[in-house]
Amino acid sequence: MLDCVARGGNGEYPQGFASSIPHIHAAVAQTPTAQKDRKIMPIEQFDTSQVHAGFDPAANADSVAPVIYPNAAFWLENSQRGHNVANGDEPGYLYSRVANPTLTVLEQRVAQLDGAAEAVAVASGMAAITYALLNAAEGGGRIIAPYDVYGGTFDSLRTLLPKFGVTTTFVEDINDLTHVESLIRDDDSVKAVFAESVSNPTTHVTDVDALAELSHRHGIPLIIDNTLPTPYLYHPIEHGADIVVYSATKALGGHGNAIGGLVTSGDRFDWSTQRYPQFSEPEWVLGEAAGRAPRSFVEAAGPLAFIRRLRLKYLRLTGAVLGPFEAYLQLLGLETLQERVSKETASALEVAKFLDAQPHVTAVHYAGLPGSEQRGLVPRDYPRGVGSVLSFELEGGAEQTAAFINHVRLFRYLANIGDVRSLIVDPANTTHREFTQEARAIVGVNASTIRLSIGLESPKDLIADLSQAFEAVYPR
Ligand SMILES: *Cc1c(COP(=O)(O)O)cnc(C)c1O
Repeated sequence: MLDCVARGGNGEYPQGFASSIPHIHAAVAQTPTAQKDRKIMPIEQFDTSQVHAGFDPAANADSVAPVIYPNAAFWLENSQRGHNVANGDEPGYLYSRVANPTLTVLEQRVAQLDGAAEAVAVASGMAAITYALLNAAEGGGRIIAPYDVYGGTFDSLRTLLPKFGVTTTFVEDINDLTHVESLIRDDDSVKAVFAESVSNPTTHVTDVDALAELSHRHGIPLIIDNTLPTPYLYHPIEHGADIVVYSATKALGGHGNAIGGLVTSGDRFDWSTQRYPQFSEPEWVLGEAAGRAPRSFVEAAGPLAFIRRLRLKYLRLTGAVLGPFEAYLQLLGLETLQERVSKETASALEVAKFLDAQPHVTAVHYAGLPGSEQRGLVPRDYPRGVGSVLSFELEGGAEQTAAFINHVRLFRYLANIGDVRSLIVDPANTTHREFTQEARAIVGVNASTIRLSIGLESPKDLIADLSQAFEAVYPR
């Protein structure tokens, strides 16, 4: 179990930069949580971690369920303690934009479940992605990514991040290592390789091991969006990824009731190289502000420089903070992550097999189907399956797609995934609107594509619902 607590905060002094900073030190130094002498079981198994990791009842009025701390700031008691907490010499929180105890539980629990060294919770999956990419490539740089990414990510990479000097070279197949290597070799401007472990809606699987090995040979980190599989089905860091991002809005929280995101970090990447000067420059907030010698994030945190800097520079200074109430809902959702995702994945496979046998279905995109294994990647990396999202193509076109969506009764038509309720959507009209025609063709989304996200209902009812929709759209 992770035994440290993220601390820090912002005292919000009115008189400007220098006086508002000393406490920042606190969020960088990490020390063990004070724990009363109670029975504390070592936590090793996933299903045990999802209900226990990161939470100490003894430090929370003996509540065994996570506690919501809605307060903006934390009592410092006296000036000596204020000074110590601000400098990171004593455990404690200061201000909830930087760290909050409810969020700490979520961060530690997800880090534990993800096999990560540390995590930062943020207000949405897009905030997690934006912060991770800018933290690596700020000031000008290039990212290598496949076309096959979440619609918001694609739009940001293509149209927004370039305004901040961060451009993206899109590749058709991120598993084409020869091509990816030709793009990063001898190019100091490349700052990160980014991909989704399992893409949406076609469930293309990335070979993270091979991509990480290639990236690392060139001194570049691999950032993986692991939203679809969740930590239950896949651990990108164990496969070599350096940074992982999540939309907690999806299967991680799992109930379609709260927007949130997380960034997790491994502890192996060397951030001290010339390619990433931002991690080696002396930081006022890590040195002089606390009356210490000038220090950089690399000096203060070594391989955790990236995740600590993300909290202190991006979360603290641009402020996409997750609310404690949302964090609590996501913690509740996490408690059943394994149970939900395993059932939803098993049902998704049943539904995919049903669709595969339908006369009016021209293609089923689900890497979990035995016939669609990607070069052995799925059996090697996803022994428990690839998750609850799949897509298929209907005979006909936009007219049949619309009719099918209008005829389902149990599937809910909305642009989300990973809910306990089954969802249906037409990506060309909704989730993939941001994609150019060219990009849609590459990622396999067209007017006949329908995406499903399978929930916890009986697969019998789901299949019956799809059957009656087929009968309505294609009468015999
Ligand atoms: C939904 C999603 C996001 C964005 O997450 P939000 O919480 O909606 O900001 C990013 N990546 C993937 C794969 C997603 O499905």
